[in-house]
Amino acid sequence: MNAYRKDFPFFAAHQDLVYFDNAATTQKPTTVIQALVNYYSNDNASVHRSTYTLAQQATDQYEQVRAKVADFIGAKDAKQILFTKGTTEGLNWIAQGICHQLLQPGDEIVLSVMEHHSNLVVWQRLAKELGLKLKYINLTDQQTLDLADARQKITAKTKVLAVTGVSNVLGSVTPILQLSELIHAVNGILVVDGAQMVPTMPVNVSQLQIDCLAFSGHKLFGPTGIGVLYATSTLLNELPPIEFGGEMVDQVSLTTTSFQPAPYKFEAGTQNVAGVIGLGAAIDYLQTIGMDKIHTEEKMLGQYLAKQLGEVAGVNVYGPIKRDNGIVAFNLDRLHAHDVATFLDANQIYVRAGTHCAQPLVNILGVNATLRASLAFYNSFEECDQLVTAIKAAKEFFD
Ligand code: PLP
Repeated sequence: MNAYRKDFPFFAAHQDLVYFDNAATTQKPTTVIQALVNYYSNDNASVHRSTYTLAQQATDQYEQVRAKVADFIGAKDAKQILFTKGTTEGLNWIAQGICHQLLQPGDEIVLSVMEHHSNLVVWQRLAKELGLKLKYINLTDQQTLDLADARQKITAKTKVLAVTGVSNVLGSVTPILQLSELIHAVNGILVVDGAQMVPTMPVNVSQLQIDCLAFSGHKLFGPTGIGVLYATSTLLNELPPIEFGGEMVDQVSLTTTSFQPAPYKFEAGTQNVAGVIGLGAAIDYLQTIGMDKIHTEEKMLGQYLAKQLGEVAGVNVYGPIKRDNGIVAFNLDRLHAHDVATFLDANQIYVRAGTHCAQPLVNILGVNATLRASLAFYNSFEECDQLVTAIKAAKEFFD
């Protein structure tokens, strides 16, 4: 049995379950659950408001996690970290903030064709409202982002390049550093959807020269309802607040309001303090293992699963041959992915089936849905074998 499994109460409750839906959401280690219980049992108080001891302590814990997140992703300053509800909210904040300050009709925004709807619909909407042009970077025949096409698409008119760091369908890893050079050469902004990248590999925003990075706590073995938006200090100082209310203000009169500096001007109202503390516990847990090790182990699992599945006649595996993580999308003959997923469910194997909130990409793959197994470091080679055996059985069952 995988050594990490004992850290996750979910697996004690579901001993025979093969949980392969980690790209959707991850299970939580005891330390995260305990941090939430402890916070609500002993430390619960509103942050940044009251002066009494517990409120001060809650504020300190909250701000310590901000510093921890900054350190985890290589940000230079804790003030570059904003707490959000998740990746979706972070991307929405950036799009809304940027649109008021930096975009004019006729400007261009470049995305890739493999974006999750979170990093697609928001820009489509902005483009429609402001009269911007959207362009999409295509894939290579290896199903990775085509850098040559990116060079064509990014021009002097490009103001924003918004791409996923890792595709939630193909597992393809985006060449962020090369893209940051391209977009910065035309003075544009690089926005990275880190929902799948941050949980699966070491990420350093300073080294990668990322201007904005959004990710979700619940995909990072932390709680739901908490996420992070990193942005450069220059952007955060320039951008206006997105939401208005308590705590984000400095002085308020009946006629005017002045705002706090970043990050506080973006965090309006009572914050998800428990979520932040749970996120901090998740980062502590991941750091005891090490993101390098997690990356290597998930890569080995993903490579093994893709190879085993690829050897089953009738299975079509998507994604690059050089696999870098545990995300493996596939289909079985002409069977609908939902039918196969239902068969797998009956065999206690949980995978996702559908378009994975990336309909344009799944259409490009020429299918109406795929299966997707997404593995984490707590999964094992034996579980991969179980999936492969069940896929062979599904083939016989539906034949
Ligand atoms: N981007 C990618 C690549 C994702 O995989 C997901 C979730 O599946 C999201 C964005 C949205 O994340 P959330 O629903 O946590 O906001």
